[in-house]
Amino acid sequence: MPEIKPIFDAARAAFIQWGGENISERVAYVSALRKVIVKNLDSIVDCISEDTGKVNMEALNSDILPTLEMMKYYEKYAPRILAPKKKKTTLLFYNHDAYVEYKPMGVVLIIAPWNCPFQLALVPLVSALLAGNAVILKPSEITPKVGDLIGALCQEAGLPKDLVQVVQGGKDVGEALIQGRPDKIFFTGSGAAGKNIMAAAAKNLIPVVLELGGKDPMIVFEDADIDRAVEAAVYGAFAHGGQFCVAVERLYVQEPVLEKFVSKIIKRIITLNVGTAYDCDFGPINTQDQIDRIEEQVQDALAKGATLLTDIIKQGSLVYPVALKNVNHDMKLMKEETFGPLLPIMSFKTEEEAVALANDSPYGLNASVWSRDTKKAKRVVSQLETGNAYINDVIKNIGNPDLPFGGVKQSGFGKYHGAEGLHTFSIETAVMVNKNKTKREINWFPYTEELAKTVRGLITVLYTDLPLREKIKILLRMRRFIKTLQ
Ligand code: NAD
Repeated sequence: MPEIKPIFDAARAAFIQWGGENISERVAYVSALRKVIVKNLDSIVDCISEDTGKVNMEALNSDILPTLEMMKYYEKYAPRILAPKKKKTTLLFYNHDAYVEYKPMGVVLIIAPWNCPFQLALVPLVSALLAGNAVILKPSEITPKVGDLIGALCQEAGLPKDLVQVVQGGKDVGEALIQGRPDKIFFTGSGAAGKNIMAAAAKNLIPVVLELGGKDPMIVFEDADIDRAVEAAVYGAFAHGGQFCVAVERLYVQEPVLEKFVSKIIKRIITLNVGTAYDCDFGPINTQDQIDRIEEQVQDALAKGATLLTDIIKQGSLVYPVALKNVNHDMKLMKEETFGPLLPIMSFKTEEEAVALANDSPYGLNASVWSRDTKKAKRVVSQLETGNAYINDVIKNIGNPDLPFGGVKQSGFGKYHGAEGLHTFSIETAVMVNKNKTKREINWFPYTEELAKTVRGLITVLYTDLPLREKIKILLRMRRFIKTLQ
């Protein structure tokens, strides 16, 4: 177990310097880091693949690209996002200005998962740095090499000493770091760990963002482009072996096109290449726990009447894609996160039924709706209990840097990406400026009968539908009184 106090002492010392830098200095460091990442692209891809079992293409697509995209976006927009924002004042505050100012919080603890160890550490890390904080990163114990690599890349980019510290270890190290009292915790991982982290953070009222698991629905209407939807379903369910929080885990297809859809999906699934070679579509399942969970969910579904559409093939940690039909919401595979290559397919008749099925889940992370009728798709999205949604595509909506990302229900709370991604790592101070034009204020002592009359008059003028002429009479009387204050 590493000693926690020196880590926080060093982080706080680094913060004092860094928090005082102006935003263009911080942006310059991020831009240096972006260039270092591109320079080391090949070794980063290899390191991610080695630690996670991801095929190279997935390391590029789901780890490196979204990280670079987010960095580039913030380099351009962070100065504007973090600049003070002017706010409106109402008539009650006629002699005031108002604005919100964004200040660094201090030391941010980022606890990252194994499945996208580069993106899900670096995006919050860069966001926290740009907002002026020092960072302590605890990578997953499953992907320590990527954790060390992130530390090395920060060094190569010339980031100030101890501004980013990578602390390796598992749950116990994570717990000890929370006891070190960071100023904010940004957690990505399972719901079970999220609950423990929130409970530990509550002891010192440390604010947390929880980015947790999902059970994302894909809803395909009969008027969708079926061939495109089939491709997307196969990609969404099986990319990285389904080990994405935003993998398609439930597929709902409108009844008239179900059989056609199912036969196309079976044909497509059997062409998938599973293995570790460069041209494979996806690689191994990362832990035995996950393999056990996949098997348990399949057996539970089969015992309750589901039909297999593919063979069950397992070679060591390689689990081949499995699709099932005749599934229902009494089965675990429709309720619990799988995090593996399972695609359960269910039919629906009406728009209302599709919405009800999609919302019948403890989770609310991402969802996709497929139709050529965009108005209908948007109407459906408006009724979904989800933090994020995509019309006519899957997964990569989360890579649009200007959109806030985060879940609802058991998928967590709090947002990052976009402006929210910098504000979440900031102290937002709401400021009022009294322009100092009167000797005293109307609400100050002494409380007199005349003052009470004026306040009542104000309430009548502001919040009733009294005829304008009557309002003007009250305002003139008030003005005489207010003048006596000046
Ligand atoms: P996990 O919860 O097992 O571990 C995540 C991290 O938390 C690891 O670094 C682990 O060491 C640490 N940890 C665990 N318990 C802790 C505790 N009590 N105190 C402090 N730290 C603790 O998750 P995982 O297996 O690495 O990742 C898979 C899960 O993450 C899935 O549920 C997936 O859906 C979710 N996920 C969510 C998102 C999102 O953006 N919402 C993204 C990726 C993964």
